[in-house]
Amino acid sequence: MQPQQAIDALTQQFLALGGTLECNASLYRLLIEDGLLTGVEIERESRLSAEPTNTVVLTTGGFQGNTELLARYVLPDTSSVILRANPYSTGDGFMAAMSAGAQASQGLHAFYGHAIAAEPARFDFSNLGEVSQFQGLIAVAVNMRGERFADETAGTGEECLNQALARQPGGGFFIVDADGMEREVLKGVGVVAGAVIERAKTYGALVISSPTLEELFDLLAEQGVPRQRLATEISGYNDAIKNGREPFPPRGKNRYPLSRGPYTAVKVKAGITFTMGGIRIDERTRVLRRSGSTSPLAPVPVERAYVETDAATITIGDDYRQTVIPGLYAAGCDAGNISHTNYMGGLATALTTGMTAGKEAAMFLLARQYS
Ligand SMILES: Cc1cc2nc3c(=O)[nH]c(=O)nc-3n(C[C@H](O)[C@H](O)[C@H](O)COP(=O)(O)OP(=O)(O)OC[C@H]3O[C@@H](n4cnc5c(N)ncnc54)[C@H](O)[C@@H]3O)c2cc1C
Repeated sequence: MQPQQAIDALTQQFLALGGTLECNASLYRLLIEDGLLTGVEIERESRLSAEPTNTVVLTTGGFQGNTELLARYVLPDTSSVILRANPYSTGDGFMAAMSAGAQASQGLHAFYGHAIAAEPARFDFSNLGEVSQFQGLIAVAVNMRGERFADETAGTGEECLNQALARQPGGGFFIVDADGMEREVLKGVGVVAGAVIERAKTYGALVISSPTLEELFDLLAEQGVPRQRLATEISGYNDAIKNGREPFPPRGKNRYPLSRGPYTAVKVKAGITFTMGGIRIDERTRVLRRSGSTSPLAPVPVERAYVETDAATITIGDDYRQTVIPGLYAAGCDAGNISHTNYMGGLATALTTGMTAGKEAAMFLLARQYS
């Protein structure tokens, strides 16, 4: 099923069940009186209006589109990353929740994404999948200084390499040899590196191929990568892998040398799909209040597995306390720290937290009606 088909099916189901859908209406802020949620302020065509409600589920998709929040929490310099997501998720849910007294989650530094074919490649939001470079896990990744900068294979996908790539000024290159071009790039994607690279070429990606490593170093030097440094790095890596030693940085899996030409290098930059940190929620997706809740770093008593209560404050043991903002829920990428550096899935997170939050919000409204 394609994303548009899934969205259409979900929309029809929502409308059939009596839901009202309004496009081009943005959450601006949450209205709170005496600590309780009383409404939302909505922006429509640059005008703000207040709408009363006691229940809100925040699902604005994270803050990857907000350079100020990224610079504050994720990366001081955002010029080496490319947005690999819709352009509208600019942290509105996170900021509205923080202004309403919510607590931020752990893991604000982390994000999910894949490397993307860097300039001169040209593409738009509908081509993000086609220009994504999934071959990092089987490649040798070097930065513009000609150095390996991470274990390319760490994490559950390419997310750890991508986060390290984001911190390399100007991005870098993913290099594979002839054997690498035939390797499957990532479990589940079902394509080989050669196909990924060919697809990116059609969008103008900078792809450099050469029959020998020496010639590849010459060509990469023309792109600004110091030749001597790069040659030392690659020969050191090859030597360590061939002789069963650990290169630096280490290489946990896919320990392949670059040994058979032609060699292919693709210019890449980190792509940011969603921020992993966000709003701190409890097991029922209820948004936790900053004041009245203990720090997430506080030692948590083992019996705090799940506590069934509708009270706003849950006290477990003498020291551990969570206070919720009644009626306020967060799901999907707005719910923070479900993934923490390593990727736990985007759609699965949205689906599971969304279903929980919807059910909880409906029960909250019903309980209010009959109380
Ligand atoms: C190219 C690409 C490939 C991906 N591949 C996969 C994959 O294979 N598997 C996987 O699990 N995940 C994948 N993902 C990630 C997945 O799409 C996301 O993790 C998931 O959609 C997040 O769901 P969400 O509901 O939190 O946010 P989103 O689906 O991003 O929805 C957030 C919505 O909120 C809207 N919004 C923002 N601000 C406001 C506001 N103030 N008021 C009202 N609305 C607002 C936005 O316009 C957007 O429509 C991929 C993402 C991309 C971009």
